[in-house]
Amino acid sequence: MLIPTTFASAQVEIRGVYGHPQGLWDKGFRLDSLGVNAIFLHDKSISAELMKRARNENVKVFAEFATLNGKGYVENHPEAWAIDSSGKKVQSATWFMGVCPSDPVFRKHRTDALKKLLSDFDVDGVWMDYVHWHAQFEDPDPILPETCFCNKCTSGFEKHTGITVSGNGIPGKARFILNRHEVAWREWRASVIANWAAEFRQIISKEKPGALLGLYHCPWNDEDFNGARYRILGLDYNKLEKEVDVFSPMVYHNRMGRKAEWVKENIEWFSKIVPNKKIWPIVQASNEPANVSAKEFEKVLRYGLSGRATGVMMFTTYAVAGEPAKIEVLKKVYHSTMQ
Ligand SMILES: [Zn+2]
Repeated sequence: MLIPTTFASAQVEIRGVYGHPQGLWDKGFRLDSLGVNAIFLHDKSISAELMKRARNENVKVFAEFATLNGKGYVENHPEAWAIDSSGKKVQSATWFMGVCPSDPVFRKHRTDALKKLLSDFDVDGVWMDYVHWHAQFEDPDPILPETCFCNKCTSGFEKHTGITVSGNGIPGKARFILNRHEVAWREWRASVIANWAAEFRQIISKEKPGALLGLYHCPWNDEDFNGARYRILGLDYNKLEKEVDVFSPMVYHNRMGRKAEWVKENIEWFSKIVPNKKIWPIVQASNEPANVSAKEFEKVLRYGLSGRATGVMMFTTYAVAGEPAKIEVLKKVYHSTMQ
């Protein structure tokens, strides 16, 4: 079989699918017959039966772990609700509700769940998802508020920087921070996010040495939306690459209103930004908000293997399973990377 020149087959180690593979199983496929060798799925969807069948079909299992999505949590724990610069609780950003990353009770809640996951199942790794301050980056018109100005965050910032925050109420303090100490504030926020990854790293190293720590993350470059990836989401790759084994940029071209070719450009750019860690992008197969044809899916799946990427997966398994032409694309592209 002719190997496309966009990637070297020997370098492709992960041919993944994201989401429960039931849709493909229902159609009678073995995952390995499609060339798939890894599944990534929500940790709550993992069961002993799934693990057994996955092993039988020679695929690795990676747990997606919702990290800072507080939907279903903040409603019962209002003290963990992220606070905006006007002192109000943030509103849900479409489906995402970010918690305050400084809340210690929430943090214990999540890290306890991680430990339980690792003790219950022999997963090959954990992929942190929703690792950013409250925002919504997956839509063409992102929601990018300034957060969090709760007392826990303000005092955490003071402790980290030695700066004493003054101002009248939360709006006054927010103005003081953003007007006078913006650089230090952005750096502190990024360090809070990286610290979550550091704690996950420690837990995984202790509970399941050898398992990988991956990160699903916003793929924006340094210019997109006026630097919002760092400025608002709090993602600093220099800090994160110290903790994370694999980066999975969420290059959802259709959701983000981009062309398929953008996936290639983005992964090539990212390969230079993070030169020493594995890159396994997640591309879009689902028809939302607009239709993604099988041909377009083939493009983004191949483009996902651009630059230094050594693996790829798509959002979602069900989107592929629902269209025979997309199953054929998956099989064709994945088999073309095997030797
Ligand atoms: Zn806070």
